[in-house]
Amino acid sequence: MKRIVVIGGGVSGMSAGIYARINGFDTVICEKHSTVGGNLCGWTRDGYHIDNCIHWLTGTNPHSEGYRMWNELGVLGDVSVLQGNTLYSCGYGGDTLSLFRDINKLEQRMLELSPEDSDEIRRLIHAVDIMQRIGGIGGDGHDEGLGIRQGIYAIPLLMRYYRMTTGELSKCFSHPLLRKFISAFWGNEFGSLALLMVFAAFCGENGGIPAGGSCGMAKRMEKQFAALGGEVLCDREVIRINRRGALAESVDLSDGTRLTADYVVVTCDPAAAFGSIIDAPMPKRLDRQYKGRRFKRFSAFQCAFACDVDKLPFEGDYILSSESDFPFEIKQVILREFSHETDYAPEGKNVLQCMTFCYENEANEFIRMREADKMSYDRKKRELSELFEKLIITDFPILNGKLRLIDAWTPATYKRYTGAEIGSFMSFALPAKCLPFRITGAVDGIENLFIASQWQQLPGGLPIAASCGRKAVSDIMRREVFLSKRKKNCMKTKPMQS
Ligand SMILES: Cc1cc2nc3c(=O)[nH]c(=O)nc-3n(C[C@H](O)[C@H](O)[C@H](O)COP(=O)(O)OP(=O)(O)OC[C@H]3O[C@@H](n4cnc5c(N)ncnc54)[C@H](O)[C@@H]3O)c2cc1C
Repeated sequence: MKRIVVIGGGVSGMSAGIYARINGFDTVICEKHSTVGGNLCGWTRDGYHIDNCIHWLTGTNPHSEGYRMWNELGVLGDVSVLQGNTLYSCGYGGDTLSLFRDINKLEQRMLELSPEDSDEIRRLIHAVDIMQRIGGIGGDGHDEGLGIRQGIYAIPLLMRYYRMTTGELSKCFSHPLLRKFISAFWGNEFGSLALLMVFAAFCGENGGIPAGGSCGMAKRMEKQFAALGGEVLCDREVIRINRRGALAESVDLSDGTRLTADYVVVTCDPAAAFGSIIDAPMPKRLDRQYKGRRFKRFSAFQCAFACDVDKLPFEGDYILSSESDFPFEIKQVILREFSHETDYAPEGKNVLQCMTFCYENEANEFIRMREADKMSYDRKKRELSELFEKLIITDFPILNGKLRLIDAWTPATYKRYTGAEIGSFMSFALPAKCLPFRITGAVDGIENLFIASQWQQLPGGLPIAASCGRKAVSDIMRREVFLSKRKKNCMKTKPMQS
């Protein structure tokens, strides 16, 4: 049996591992951390659970393509999935607007707030419907696809969103709350197509949260891999991939052991892997994305509060109002609640998490500060957490005196934890005028090494990570077929011995 060594036990790594076992390979996952999951994780502080990842999981609608994959990976099956009523909400001048799962309700609410924006609102809702149909989750039952004629008519409409950033799209609306709502989640620089994808997934019941949240999902994938006979080596960082000519033949681990390999799958951030553990140049297209100015990397500053309140004044995610002097380029703060998970907080209480995105220079500033001056770094975390607490209380005065900081974490935390170069946890932000095609995982000069990473396809995220893991195994299978055909041909053409 040929052996695949997978570097990294995040979602891409576990997906590669599970598909490798399904296809009969001896498979070992090496993970530098003490548990698998990577960014799909959570931790406990002072009796409160902090969930690091899932806001929505694309692929929870049984009619979607992703659903089958998540089932094969052991993620869904008989697990209950929360299809929340709202994904996020934001307020302005005393009004609130939510991304309702019920798209008719969303349309109605937008029209009620701003009848003068009716053309733009109807166009947006129609585009969301088209996106749902492209994914096979359209119509009232969320099970309809897109006909050829419908598809042809939809091209000009989708091209419009393809060309615009969320900032540009928000300016097409006259009402300030609608403007805020459009750029609320990622700021102004994302492509509007990404926004349509999120709306389409959530309103198409394809963006739910599986019970148990991020930790629960990671544990189910780990269990699936173990049930298929895979082996995980935790606390083992891969420090080098050893090559013999065009083949990777083994990997060296931090504990001094060496694992031989017929194939190596690399799932960690390519920016951190090429030039350190991989002795080969990064694939050209990927390299251009890292070096170019068009594709932006980001991470986040986050903090969590114990909340001494039983019934919260909002549901899902809430975009807090921030002032123009807010100290980050993206001026949004996302507040999350987890009341759907009853064991995340002691009875009668809740846990709240705040997040603001930071671009590369801001992320690097945290990383530099932590290395150079831990006291200043800790002070900065405290000051930002105090600012976030003020923002929460401004929007929800009822929470005044009810919040207690339990943790704060930064891009430096992500860098230490997952090894990602600037502490990023998704791929590049999807800009306007860009289609999210996948970059090949093949590496020039090393025939049996494949990348399986969310960095191959913008904007990353769990489904992309998992499908890149699956694709790496299918590339390996294709190579195996090629090798066996070549062997057969060689045998056929061997000269007869006299
Ligand atoms: C706050 C937050 C919210 C998010 N929300 C969502 C969401 O709602 N929906 C969604 O789809 N996605 C979301 N994501 C993104 C999602 O978590 C990631 O896309 C996904 O987890 C990436 O998985 P990965 O396996 O590609 O990478 P990672 O999770 O980074 O895993 C890489 C693994 O490799 C290990 N590793 C690195 N170097 C080595 C080495 N040399 N040797 C051994 N092991 C190594 C790391 O320790 C890590 O475990 C969110 C992420 C965060 C942080």
